[in-house]
Amino acid sequence: MKERPLRTTVIGSYPLPGWLEFACAHLDQFGQADRAELRDDAVIAAIHDQVAAGLDVITDGEQTRLDFNLSFYGHLDGLDLEASPPRRFGPPAHDQRGKHRVTGKLGGARGLGVVEEFKRLERLAPAGPALKASVPGPYTLSGRLEPNENYPDRYALTEALVPVVRRELSDLAGAGCREITVDEPSMSCYAHREDPARLADIFNRTVAPVVGKCRLSTHLCFGNYKGRAVGPRIYRPMFPAFLDLTVDEIHVEMASREFAELEIIGEIAARRDVAVGIIDVKSYYIETPQDVAERVRRCLKWAPAERLSLAPDCGLSQTARWAARQKLKNMVEGVNVVRGELKLD
Ligand SMILES: [Zn+2]
Repeated sequence: MKERPLRTTVIGSYPLPGWLEFACAHLDQFGQADRAELRDDAVIAAIHDQVAAGLDVITDGEQTRLDFNLSFYGHLDGLDLEASPPRRFGPPAHDQRGKHRVTGKLGGARGLGVVEEFKRLERLAPAGPALKASVPGPYTLSGRLEPNENYPDRYALTEALVPVVRRELSDLAGAGCREITVDEPSMSCYAHREDPARLADIFNRTVAPVVGKCRLSTHLCFGNYKGRAVGPRIYRPMFPAFLDLTVDEIHVEMASREFAELEIIGEIAARRDVAVGIIDVKSYYIETPQDVAERVRRCLKWAPAERLSLAPDCGLSQTARWAARQKLKNMVEGVNVVRGELKLD
């Protein structure tokens, strides 16, 4: 169990500063040392905002990834990366990303780059907050690959990626990372039409090498690319199968769904820790500390404080930085109100 009741945590990503996005579009004008400095500065900015908010757990904000999983494909072998997106105009959404062609044997001999990210975070973060690394799961990664004669469907592609992710997790634990989240949003988006027990089995085989070696969590959301969901936003189809995920903590998004199916967190808390999304990353309504305190009290009707973590619904990469910063600050302030009421700390 986690070391602090009502722990405040985040899902991996944080908005990229405007200057970083600009720099990313002009990377060819930077030298190698400039780029290293750029990466450090971006992570320092993300750390600063999270520490200022007072979070118990922080990440590197995934500042060195272009988006949640785009950058991982550059690390994989056997791919011909998508040249141009299938839809360029119109409202922003997930269908503006295409699929990569598999041209050889899928592999990841060079790793996925998360160990390097963790080492940078460890080097730059102050003492105090716990440090968390996030790794995309193989099922989610496979979603952007085109099946072919060697890998005839999504499950075949997934199986080829399982060892790649397993090795990254082992390497992370070996590098001293004590808290890892394996993100499988595709599992939560598509559990309604797939066999959820089969998905849970893939997940458990992926994380097997690090079970018991670090604190493991997963984030079950319904999609947030360009701030849009892609799955039917109901948890019921995933349960009870997903209660068998071998993790210490399961995160669910509740704020954007107006706390529908909140009873699910009671079922999760009976087995393991549960992190609840109480901040809506898709809305520019900034939750007040009072809103947050009220939401935490609602969660406490279903799960005890020792089992409960509080977080935004998803990563904050699709939310403007000024809003993300205020939302995190208010989240911690609101949780502290309830901590005071319960005389925790
Ligand atoms: Zn998410």
